[in-house]
Amino acid sequence: MAVSVFDLFKIGIGPSSSHTVGPMRAARLFVQRLRHEGQLDRTVRVATALYGSLGATGKGHGSDKAVLLGLAGHEPDTVDVERIPAILEEIRGRKRVALGGEHEIAFDEARDLVLYRRQSLPLHANGMRLIAFDAEGNELQNRVYYSVGGGFVVTEEVLADGSRQKQIAPDTTVLPYPFKTGAELLALTEREHCSIAEIMRRNEGHWRSDEDTRAGLLNIWRVMQSCVERGCRTEGILPGGFKVRRRAAQLHRELTSDAEAALRDPLQVMDWVNLYALAVNEENAAGGRVVTAPTNGAAGIIPAVLHYYARFVNPPPPAPRGGVDATRNGPGGRTNPALGAHEDGIIDFLLTAAAIGILYKENASISGAEVGCQGEVGVACSMAAAALCAVMGGTPAQVENAAEIGMEHHLGLTCDPVGGLVQIPCIERNAIASVKAINAARMALRGDGTHHVSLDKVIKTMRETGADMMTKYKETARGGLAVNIVEC
Ligand code: SF4
Repeated sequence: MAVSVFDLFKIGIGPSSSHTVGPMRAARLFVQRLRHEGQLDRTVRVATALYGSLGATGKGHGSDKAVLLGLAGHEPDTVDVERIPAILEEIRGRKRVALGGEHEIAFDEARDLVLYRRQSLPLHANGMRLIAFDAEGNELQNRVYYSVGGGFVVTEEVLADGSRQKQIAPDTTVLPYPFKTGAELLALTEREHCSIAEIMRRNEGHWRSDEDTRAGLLNIWRVMQSCVERGCRTEGILPGGFKVRRRAAQLHRELTSDAEAALRDPLQVMDWVNLYALAVNEENAAGGRVVTAPTNGAAGIIPAVLHYYARFVNPPPPAPRGGVDATRNGPGGRTNPALGAHEDGIIDFLLTAAAIGILYKENASISGAEVGCQGEVGVACSMAAAALCAVMGGTPAQVENAAEIGMEHHLGLTCDPVGGLVQIPCIERNAIASVKAINAARMALRGDGTHHVSLDKVIKTMRETGADMMTKYKETARGGLAVNIVEC
């Protein structure tokens, strides 16, 4: 086990971690390999092919654009999202791409980027093949990559190895507090007399200092906040043929126009939670900058519940009168103690959520193409429920209970994106699951942590349910809502 919190929370672009972020990273890896093998300069053509779910819904998920960006050397976390349309226009207009930004070749999309809607590669639903040719038509490289969910990419060799350990992280890292199951995680907290977040923090110490982990997580939180802010002020229609209207900006206006309404309607906090989730998922659907948490399709749930915590449960200290902002760091870069406590909660939230996400990554899947939406929205709900329970004072047993409730009521949830777009039902589904996560945390906090179905059992059930699920319900847009709602 060697999954870091930053493997689960990655800064990327929408609309899909497995169909956008993954293919982009795979294409970039392929070019890096050509460079590493000294073959880049001899390459005159690259042929790419997407299979399985990537082939079936790749257009709607922007997989084709992601491949072009990856070949051109762009990375999901750093590409300027405002410039993406111009970059694509140039590649498509000139029918040329500069591999890795340095070696230009002809690229005819109709010939060199093929989406196979009905063919799959053998090892995973999200497969892609890239072949590089020299001027004589000889193959320089012929590589298969699989995008296994959450933006993780593995090569054919790693998957064929058959070891799940290798699928997740092909290294031999041994963390100081290793855990693979919920039971092991709970036993560690008992033995060490500490929280789940503390176990995660100590494990993260294997890769970097506490200060760097803290700074990295606060940066993740900043990106989540920016995403919500952009979503709350951007109007219009989402890309794709269904002309789905963005709703977050209008809802934000309504919620901020009448402050007294909240006094009359105690459930208005639910509207805010819905707003945060809608804002993130609309940004995601528009191809904007989001944090994969743990996937893009489910990227709204953790930010929505974390915003709820940070604004309604443990808000930052108010700025004092006189103009000095108490929320800013003090002299010498020292954190304001009151703000420090606020930030501690945010960091513990993200660490706890990641610990639960690791259990799903280790023992089941976070890929809609592999196990349906229970693996995306269900997992994010479970992570958020656990995290909220923890920062509201839950014991590790209560946190485990919250995570279990968050998944139990998503078992069997299919993935049936209408038109292959991450819009219907995905956007609303994130809002519903965010409220569900808060409810799960509250239910767990009202108990003492004892319950019948353990988190490990529900994860196993999720994996088996996913295996039994028909392919048409696993991100292929060939079943469910996807076939009952047609473009008009
Ligand atoms: S239905 Fe769920 S799993 Fe499928 S694309 Fe939408 S959010 Fe992802």
